[in-house]
Amino acid sequence: MITFLSGGTGTPKLLRGMRELLEEREIAVVVNTAEDMWFSGNHLSPDVDTVMYLFAGILDTSKWWGIHGDTFITHDLLKRLGINEFIAVGDQDRAIHVARGEMLRNGISLTEATKALCKTLAVQATVLPMTDSPVTTYVRTKMGEMHFQEYWVKHRGDVAIDGVVRRFSEPPVATEEVIEAIERSDAVVVGPSNPVTSISPILECAGVREALRRQRVIAVSPFIGDAPVSGPAAALMRAFGKEASSAGTCSLYEDFVDVFIQDIRDPVAIEGALRLDTLMVNRGKSLDLAKNILSLIYGC
Ligand code: GDP
Repeated sequence: MITFLSGGTGTPKLLRGMRELLEEREIAVVVNTAEDMWFSGNHLSPDVDTVMYLFAGILDTSKWWGIHGDTFITHDLLKRLGINEFIAVGDQDRAIHVARGEMLRNGISLTEATKALCKTLAVQATVLPMTDSPVTTYVRTKMGEMHFQEYWVKHRGDVAIDGVVRRFSEPPVATEEVIEAIERSDAVVVGPSNPVTSISPILECAGVREALRRQRVIAVSPFIGDAPVSGPAAALMRAFGKEASSAGTCSLYEDFVDVFIQDIRDPVAIEGALRLDTLMVNRGKSLDLAKNILSLIYGC
């Protein structure tokens, strides 16, 4: 079994290749939940949803979120009714959020709710929220602290930020399922997800770093030079006090990473790093990178 640490875009692109090469039951994915929010009364867990939809074969891979071919009838009507829906939630996608919201309100844990949703969607991989207690990433702006989704989706990242804050009422602890998955795996792969908003929240869950230090860990950089392949990772890295580069990413993982993979085009030199083509612009490229990583793990 291999365990992946994932956000909602970079690592899912790698998982798209992995699921063609591995038995899905041999894949566990520990997913960031620090972007979760209650939205129009329902529970949105964007990274968990993307990973679930990928394995269910229904993900809209043109955007890497939402369900392929979904309709937006409820969203459009809510907007006409004056509801501030700054995220365009599709109708089927919303049904998942409604179901999860109901389960959480009834006292079911996020881990159990995810398991139930995966069962219904016939997902065979193990999808594990990093923790069962709420933790949320906020960015610090001149207007005050702002939920990451508001910063990135509502304001399209067009706001200066000078800090990243994680808010919680109890310090997040990794679930038993997460630690067990890491421990039982042949290796752990930290995919090329945002180091600040996707991977660090997982690493900050009590127990995760210690478990990773005892495992063989391969990490893939989401940066080429001083720019991420996509998204707001550069501004977030600087606000997090780190260099916006593969070197900055590697420094966040240095206490546990065994193999650090950088893109062949990356001008930043990191001693000992492995160079691969990490640009997963299509299914074939995802498959190639997945094959290369599996040959590192299994030597074939
Ligand atoms: P989010 O939850 O939607 O923010 O998604 P992730 O955190 O999982 O992934 C975002 C990161 O994926 C960004 O920092 C991108 O640079 C990185 N990324 C996206 N596509 C690729 C790719 O094809 N190759 C690499 N190396 N990184 C990628």
